[in-house]
Amino acid sequence: MSETATTPKKSPRKWLLTQNSDLRRIGVFNWTLPAFAIQLPDGSNFNVCPQAGVCARFCYARVGTYRFKNVRAAHIRNLLLCRDTPEEFEARMTEELSHKRYSGKWIRLHDSGDFYSEGYLHTWLRIMKNSPGVRFYCYTKEIRLFKRVLAESAPDNFLWCYSLGGKEDKYIDLTKERHADVFPDVEALIAGGYTDQTESDLLSVLSESPLVGIPANRIPYLLKKQGKGTFGSLQRERDEKLAAKKSARSQELALVH
Ligand code: SF4
Repeated sequence: MSETATTPKKSPRKWLLTQNSDLRRIGVFNWTLPAFAIQLPDGSNFNVCPQAGVCARFCYARVGTYRFKNVRAAHIRNLLLCRDTPEEFEARMTEELSHKRYSGKWIRLHDSGDFYSEGYLHTWLRIMKNSPGVRFYCYTKEIRLFKRVLAESAPDNFLWCYSLGGKEDKYIDLTKERHADVFPDVEALIAGGYTDQTESDLLSVLSESPLVGIPANRIPYLLKKQGKGTFGSLQRERDEKLAAKKSARSQELALVH
């Protein structure tokens, strides 16, 4: 009687960082959270993008494949890991980034979601400092948080691009600070004097010009809603309307008193 030795199969490692087809093409890995205001499995609500403004109306990460049950579940798992167990998240992410598959690579933080708290930003800054062989980049609408926390010391391996369409657009110097705006199409962004980042998402942080133009996703009803405006121009319109309402209200109150 002969016995065949069987080696138990190792289950494949579950990576925290993933790649979609666009990012795989340019060798970038991605950390994703859910977009904007969501309801969590315990029934509580949480806003992952506290400074989102008009962008939330056009957000590609709230439609299409992002709504698939398994995709949403994975993004929520990511959020709960970094929000509820930040030490575990930091340790697991730092360990994962030491793997050779990330050596010399770029990691994009948040193709959806944003830095929802200062503590979460600090967690990432420590991960970056402890992962010197890896480079990181992001878009963010957390303008004041970034200016305050990163003004004096930012990790050498981290670049970022402010993105328009948020409540803090007004704190960006559009003439010289790196920022991205979403235009209806490539022709419109070129006409607006912006650099087209279609070729590679890394141009958002590596292009010579700090004015980064993104053509809107080809989702017909979102394109219709956006019309000829850009996220930046639509946010300015919203800010002006809100300011006018506020001033009318203060005048009314002044008349009453
Ligand atoms: S900040 Fe980004 S992910 Fe969040 S709502 Fe705006 S476009 Fe969507």
